[in-house]
Formats: sequence, structure tokens, C-alpha cells
Amino acid sequence: MSDPTSAPRKRDPECLFCRIVAGELPATTVHSDDELIAIRDIAPRSPTHILILPREHIVSAADLTEEDGPLLGNVFATAVALARSEGIADRGYRIVTNVGQWGGQTVDHLHFHLMGGRSFTWPPG
Ligand code: AMP
Ligand code: ZN
Repeated sequence: MSDPTSAPRKRDPECLFCRIVAGELPATTVHSDDELIAIRDIAPRSPTHILILPREHIVSAADLTEEDGPLLGNVFATAVALARSEGIADRGYRIVTNVGQWGGQTVDHLHFHLMGGRSFTWPPG
């Protein structure tokens, strides 16, 4: 595991999540490695609500390419491991990423919500 405050490859100094990655703003970190960090959502919408985000500033899933395959593999492996360690794996959970205004994205730095601890409706509102 690397130093959680090590510099990302690409960074937007105005970006909230880049600033959390850089250690300039506080967050409750539950996982950290070379490519990504996972933090607790500041306004949780479920008993477990974790955000998994790449260290690199990628705006949204719309900016991903095939080259990001290993990063995405890490995102999902991390989500699965966190779901187990959070005790939400057995009953099920949701992994979601919002894209753009109509998708409900409010922070323009790619992140995946890992949510569990209650049941969810489908489709989302
Ligand atoms: P989205 O609306 O999909 O872009 O998700 C952004 C999420 O970031 C929301 O669930 C917010 O509650 C969360 N959030 C905003 N600011 C912070 C922060 N400083 N630390 C942790 N989570 C945050
Ligand atoms: Zn960013």
C-alpha cells in the first residue's frame, strides 16, 4: 500500500475530490492504494455509504476508455472487499456512478457509490 497522500497523476486544484486525495481536505478513508481511495460519504443515504474514487482526476464514467480496464477492475475488487468488511455482502448492496446533470452527478471527479445496509427500490428516482 502506498502513501495515501502521494500525488495523483493528473489533478484539478479546484476539484473537491482531488483535494481530498491530496490530503488538503479531511475525509474518513477506509481504503487507499496506488490508484484509488475509498472514503465515507459525508451525507450518507444508507447505513453504509462509501465513495470509491481514482486518485487521478477523471471527470466521469463518460471519460473512461479501454485503457482504464485495470483501474475499473481495482474499483470493483475494492468494492467487493469493502462490502464484505462492512458486513453488507450477504444481503446485497448497490454500486452506482452518476454521470452528468441528469444522471445526478454533483462532484465532477469519477466516483462509485457503494451503498448497503438497507434495501433499495428500482428504478432509482
Ligand atoms: P454524486 O452526486 O454522484 O456526484 O455524488 C457526490 C457525493 O459526494 C454525494 O453523495 C455527497 O454527499 C458526497 N460528498 C460531497 N462532499 C463530500 C466530502 N467532503 N466528503 C465526502 N463525501 C462528500
Ligand atoms: Zn478531481
